[in-house]
Amino acid sequence: MIDRYSRQIIFPGIGEEGQRRLSSSYAVIIGCGALGTIMATSLVRAGVGKVRIIDRDFIEYHNLQRQVLFDEDDIKNQLPKAIAAERHLKTVNSSVKVEGIVADVNYTNIERFVRDADIILDGLDNFETRLLINDVSLKQNIPWVYGGAISSFGMTMTIIPHETPCFRCFLPSSTRGMSLTCDTAGVISPAPFIIGSWQTAEALKILVGNTDINRELITIDVWKGTFQRLKISPRQGCPTCQGKYEFLEGETGLRTTSLCGQNAVQVFSSEAKHLSLEELAARLKPVAQVTYNEFMLRFTADNQEMVVFPDGRAILRDTTDESLARGLYSKYIGT
Ligand SMILES: [Zn+2]
Repeated sequence: MIDRYSRQIIFPGIGEEGQRRLSSSYAVIIGCGALGTIMATSLVRAGVGKVRIIDRDFIEYHNLQRQVLFDEDDIKNQLPKAIAAERHLKTVNSSVKVEGIVADVNYTNIERFVRDADIILDGLDNFETRLLINDVSLKQNIPWVYGGAISSFGMTMTIIPHETPCFRCFLPSSTRGMSLTCDTAGVISPAPFIIGSWQTAEALKILVGNTDINRELITIDVWKGTFQRLKISPRQGCPTCQGKYEFLEGETGLRTTSLCGQNAVQVFSSEAKHLSLEELAARLKPVAQVTYNEFMLRFTADNQEMVVFPDGRAILRDTTDESLARGLYSKYIGT
């Protein structure tokens, strides 16, 4: 055991005491794409005692370009990401309790999924679930590390409940409705690799009890070669900081409703107040057939027709699967 971890025990920031702390720690990773696979493999190799990985998707060929834990056999075997990650990581380090959970994380289950965790790591691709993590982090007093990467850039910030500004403090409301997604903007692997590695370093520090964490918003562009630190201030009147966990209560955020008798699901994001259909059409054109006027936009992607309205609503026909509807909404419209 000492030999396995000898190189990080020699590192003064960890040491023997740090290694002991890691081995009795519990990390929850939500989302197992590029960021999630980097964080999961790093934490399991580092000897974190228990690592839970939650993801709702299956693996597709276009994931292999950057999602380092998966291979072609996983796709042939039609494995969900969480399961493939668990299987691979158990062979990497059998002393770590690795647990893969296939689930759509939402306000009905997140409190149960993260209970007793020492840290939550964000490997998500949508703001909707991040706001949920933010709520549960402050409510259950669990630190979390935000990370996002797309195209050639990414950003990260560490949130210590009731100590640093929270995610909602700095999230500009205008970006929520029109955030880019990997499916429409593309992504090169170095962007999520750097952000995921940065998140891992923050996690290691927190788990060994180092309080000198990153208190700024870090943004990196690997193609332009730029790096920025942005000081974030607590926002006056931030509901989450005041103990109002609206996303956890399911009052705001992404909600789905089955439309009675129509075999359709409506998805509504209360955060996307006004959606520019023109901008959305431009963004979707490379990946979908799109028609629109000023009242609605209709497109077909992943064999599913979706109709989007300027108030941020979307209707998916010929389905009653609310989880699928939320997933497609996050993927193509962004939240
Ligand atoms: Zn806040």
